[in-house]
Amino acid sequence: MKPKAGAEEKLKSVGSRLIDLSHRIHAHPELGFEEEQAANWICEFLDGQGFEIERGICDLPTAFAAKAGDGPFHVAICAEYDALPGIGHACGHNIIAASSCGAAIAAAAVAEDAGLTIHLIGTPAEEVGNASGKILLLQRGAFEGMHMAMMVHPTPFDAVMPKIIAASMFEVAYTGKASHASAFPELGINAADALTVAQTAIGLLRQHIRPSDRIHGIVTDGGDAPNIVPAHARAKYIIRAETIDDLVELRGKVHRCFDAGAIATGSTVKIIGGDQPYAEMIHDSRIAELYRKNAESLGRVFSDLGPLRDRAAASTDMGNVSLAVPSIHPMIGIESGTAVNHQPEFTAQCIRPSADKAILDAALAMAWTAIDAA
Ligand SMILES: [Zn+2]
Ligand SMILES: [Zn+2]
Repeated sequence: MKPKAGAEEKLKSVGSRLIDLSHRIHAHPELGFEEEQAANWICEFLDGQGFEIERGICDLPTAFAAKAGDGPFHVAICAEYDALPGIGHACGHNIIAASSCGAAIAAAAVAEDAGLTIHLIGTPAEEVGNASGKILLLQRGAFEGMHMAMMVHPTPFDAVMPKIIAASMFEVAYTGKASHASAFPELGINAADALTVAQTAIGLLRQHIRPSDRIHGIVTDGGDAPNIVPAHARAKYIIRAETIDDLVELRGKVHRCFDAGAIATGSTVKIIGGDQPYAEMIHDSRIAELYRKNAESLGRVFSDLGPLRDRAAASTDMGNVSLAVPSIHPMIGIESGTAVNHQPEFTAQCIRPSADKAILDAALAMAWTAIDAA
């Protein structure tokens, strides 16, 4: 039997269990670096499939590496499995976990004939925005010796080389001075006002940034009671730009807006994090072409997205991997009606029949791509 047919047959034999795995992860959403159950379930699934499994690699308790085969061509397949606060698997990482697991099992079954060594790398905490799973795994050597890396991400449409831009998440903390807001307001220093000034400055800054830049955030602490001058205020912000270089430039401008709040109110400002950003993705066009052909042969359609391709730019730590190892990160379409990623309506779609089919299509297209690339 030819390797591609062998991979397909193997995938068929585990298909229904992969879908069970996806649904189980979906039903028990865990946040970044806390994905104990998901990592356990995937490792249990791989047990008995001919993998050497190492858990908690690189000092990350919810990361793992599973290796099979000893061919000359080393392929890293990344499995994400973290969820979002409040809205569960609204990014469909349960689909990623199951499809990457399926791809690894299918390709491992024919590793000898295809000349492959397959590494399924469990990569936690993709959604955290700074110093995430793949960034730390890369720094600590988990991707050393790989000839290529890949994963497939669900979204409302199929895309081979989606636009993926640089990003970094940081926290801003203002400290002022509490006081009675009516009797002794002149003794207070209002930390929440500092945040208001900063938000106004960012609003004005929007006129002078590139159309592709993004600045978005939430206030996580705006004080304790209306009759106490807020002595503390906190926010979490994400900034994005086409490249890491552009991001560094934008960061300086945004930080100055936060400084403005401190200067205006007399409070002090501290910026925490943002030091280990997500890089832009450089897609390997040769591997991407192999994926496209394999996915098309399974009936996947890649339509011309026009201006939507650039407008719907997102970020992932797979970008950092792509700067070190030839990589792909195609999007696989699921039927989601009008819902898009990071909406609770999308969460509900991530266990429907089209999501389950996406798991099997992505798994086989990745396994075949590994075989072709080798
Ligand atoms: Zn997401
Ligand atoms: Zn995602």
